[in-house]
This record gives sequence, structure tokens and C-alpha cells, in this order.
Amino acid sequence: MGSNILYIEDNPDNMTLVKRALEARGYRLLQAMNGLDGVAIAEREEVDLILLDINLPDIDGYEVARRIRGSGKTNLVYIPIIAITANALKGDAEKALGAGCDVYMSKPINIRELWARVEAFVPSPQKTVVPLYRGSTIHGGPNA
Ligand SMILES: [Mg+2]
Repeated sequence: MGSNILYIEDNPDNMTLVKRALEARGYRLLQAMNGLDGVAIAEREEVDLILLDINLPDIDGYEVARRIRGSGKTNLVYIPIIAITANALKGDAEKALGAGCDVYMSKPINIRELWARVEAFVPSPQKTVVPLYRGSTIHGGPNA
């Protein structure tokens, strides 16, 4: 599995925030500023997860999700889609799930929540550095 994440979002501040947060964890971010570009990139590129804003300048996020799920590209039937919505109305969550999103989170974006939700689907490619201390051996620690 790769680590390419597509973020479909028209707000540049959110885009910058999410780009920094995800690149810090080793993910690669593909960016689309409107819904139609987002669908096109999802169909053209190798994408492992989609972050989807609901309020977009052309087609809304619900329509984006429906088009992605209805795409002829096989992996888009199963690709994880996380809706990110500013809509506080209770019905919007169900609407996002009904359109094919797997989960949703609300704005303002909380970075820890974002990391957790993304990692639930796509493990962070950032390798954990295991420190080797002077005097220890590779095959065992001081008590081995
Ligand atoms: Mg928006």
C-alpha cells in the first residue's frame, strides 16, 4: 500500500495546514481546489485515501463522493473517503455517509484527530527510529 493522499479543498489555509501535518508523517499530498479536479485526479493518479471538503465551488462533496464511488476505476469503489465538513447540522453527517464517505470530521481541523483518522486507514510511512545505545548490542539490550 502506498501513502498518497488526495485532499479536495478550496480553502488554501486548510490545504496548507493539512499538507504540513501529513507531510510531517511522511505522506504525500495531492491537491485539488475543486470537485471536478478532485474526481479527475482520483481517476488518473494512484491515490490511497481521499480527504473531502463538502463545500466546494463547483460540485459539492456529496456529488464528488458519488462520482468517485461510481467511477469505472476499481480501487475507487473501496478507497477510504474522509469527509471534512463545516456544516454543523446533524443531517450532514448522514448525508456524507450516504454519499459514500466512510467517516467524517468537522472543521476546524484538529491535527491529532486528522492523523488518527488517516492512520486508521493508511499507516504512516514515517519509520519509527529505534535508538541504539552505546554498549548495547543489536541482538539484545543490557539484559539480554
Ligand atoms: Mg470549502
